[in-house]
This record gives sequence, structure tokens and C-alpha cells, in this order.
Amino acid sequence: MKRSARITIHPQALQHNLNRARQEAPDSKTTAVIKANAYGHGAVEAAGILYDKTEGFAVSCIVEAVELRQAHIDRPITVLQGFQSTDDLRIAEAYQLRLTVHHKRQLSLLDQFSPANSQHRFDLNIKMDSGMHRLGFAPDEFINAVQKLQNHTLVNPDGLVLMTHLSSADEKDKDTTQQQISLFNKNCDALNKDYPKSIANSAGILGWKESDSEWIRPGIMLYGSSPYSETHRDTLDLKAAMTLNAPIITIRHLKKGEVVGYGGTWVCERDTITAIIACGYADGYPRHARSGTPVLIHSEQAKLIGRVSMDMIIIDITDIKEASVQVGDLAELWGKNLSIDTIAQCAETISYELLCNAGNLCERMGT
Ligand SMILES: *Cc1c(COP(=O)(O)O)cnc(C)c1O
Repeated sequence: MKRSARITIHPQALQHNLNRARQEAPDSKTTAVIKANAYGHGAVEAAGILYDKTEGFAVSCIVEAVELRQAHIDRPITVLQGFQSTDDLRIAEAYQLRLTVHHKRQLSLLDQFSPANSQHRFDLNIKMDSGMHRLGFAPDEFINAVQKLQNHTLVNPDGLVLMTHLSSADEKDKDTTQQQISLFNKNCDALNKDYPKSIANSAGILGWKESDSEWIRPGIMLYGSSPYSETHRDTLDLKAAMTLNAPIITIRHLKKGEVVGYGGTWVCERDTITAIIACGYADGYPRHARSGTPVLIHSEQAKLIGRVSMDMIIIDITDIKEASVQVGDLAELWGKNLSIDTIAQCAETISYELLCNAGNLCERMGT
């Protein structure tokens, strides 16, 4: 038995979107970001689909990387949060993971570690904090860290990549991105050796040529969502990689003045035909989606009315040709024909959150 709401993954869209990243940065190598179960799309599945067209993958943490290795994904895998213990280093050695070093505590962990194979050398990303103030060495610490790591007996000096992360590349009118890139480049230039760099996320790849470098790290664009609130995915030639569908389980005829849903927050302004859809916040549909949020029925646009419940939403189908709508028909909550970015805006959130939630809660249809 399965819940009614289900997601469908579109492999060709994933491949198309990865090609779009490569077109935008033709001289760069790609680390496809598939953290958080590939933003809900299924990490192993996404890695298989993207495998031939990417030089590597990135995930957040060691467990995510191990899952991919156990599924025989043999491309380089970067762990963006790096390691927190010598146990993590032991696992990273065993599974040949590329680690991120972003804090001096990790330098002492490396000093304490003795590898199972005395010949083992780690490939590392060394991360500089250029302004996001989340992970990364401050610029002056960064230079010291690189100098220490390039001579470290456990480090492969040819496997070093210098990285930073952009905090505001989705805001094209801000100076922040330019400042972050300049600060990072300046500190990389101050080193005694040239190393490959990795800067751009999706918003950087699509909007900031200056953020192209030896490596790019596309995430959200792979899944067919625009990283910019003002730009539609179609303008960027991105295609939805996930569709969320759920069936109509009841159709109701309500009178003008009757109220709908918890709290009776929606009052029918006219005689209204409603459809109850078996999908709610327990399936990853955002509870804060406002009345008026579009839902597709047979490619026609209906509107959410009233509050989102745990397992259901109520939509107004009065203006849809009634004969064509029946119990059992599938609604599209977002996907190929309805941009997730629209739904995210209606719920005052971002597509990332919706994809992770629905992707990790819903059943998957075969593709
Ligand atoms: C998540 C993440 C990315 C990808 O970001 P998108 O906005 O999804 O393209 C790139 N780099 C780092 C360090 C990340 O954490």
C-alpha cells in the first residue's frame, strides 16, 4: 500500500540541466551537488543519471558519501562539511573521499590520524570564508592553512582545490558577490603556488562569469529551479526534474457564503465546486501556501483555497470544465507544467525546501 501523493523524477531533465551548467562554464569541470538525497530526487538515482556527464559529486556529510560508494558510484565525491573526527578520516580513507578542510581544528585531527595504509594521501578542498561567515578559514588563516596542508604527509599536494562559497549570487544588483570573488582571488594569488579553484553555485554559474573557475558546483539548477526569484526557469532553459502528483479523492458543491478548511479562513464568494486532493504537509506540500496558489488539473489551472491540512488540500475547480474532472484524476502540485518556484513564492519559501521535503516524504513513481 502506498500513500496517494507521489513524485516522478525526470532523468532527461536532470541531464539537460547539467548540460546547461556545462554550457555556461565550458572551461570548467563539474562537481554535481547531490546533498540531501539530491535535493529529494534520490542521491543514488541522480548520481547514476548524471554519472557520464560530470567529473564528480558533492554531498554534505560522510554518511551521504558512503551511501554513494556502497552503490558503486566511483567518481570523486567531495564532502562539503568535511570531517569532524579521526573516525571520519578513517572512513574517508577507506572510501576514497575528497574532504573539505574549513577550520583549524581539522588540521589537528589530521596531525593525530594514522592511516590504515601508510601511503594514503587525502585529496582536499581548502575552504576560505570570503564573506558568508558559515564555514571556511578567515583570509589570513587560509594562507597558513594552505601552506601547512601542501606539505602535510597525509595530503596529496596535486589533489588540492581552493574553494569558497557565495552568499548572495542570486541578487544580481549587489556588490557582495564581486567583493567575495575579489577577496578570494587575492588570497589565492598570494600563495606560492597556483591551485585549481571552485567558487560558483548555480546562481554564480548562471549569473556571474567571474565566478567560473577550474571547478563549478551546480545544485538547484540541476533540478530545474531558477536560483533567482525574478527569473523564470524557462528563461534559463531549465527543466523540472521532479513532478509532484496526487489524486482527487472527493468533489464537493458548496454554496456562496460557506467556509472551507481549518479555521474557516476561506469563505466562498460564489457557489463553488471544490476538489479535495490527497496531498498535504505530511507529503511535503508547504503548509504556508496561500489561498490562490495554483494547482493543475488536466493542464487547467485551479486554485488552492483555505488552509493546507496534513494530508489534504482543497482547491476551487468551479472554472474548470466540470465534465472533465473526476474523482481519481491526478492533480499536479508542481513539476513539468507548473514551476516549483511559483509554489515556493506562494508559500514564502524556496524551492530547495519543497524539493527536499516532498522528495524525502513521498513515494516515487517509476520513471
Ligand atoms: C549546496 C551547495 C552548493 C550548491 O548550491 P545551489 O544553490 O543549489 O546551486 C554549492 N556549494 C556549496 C558549498 C553548497 O553547500
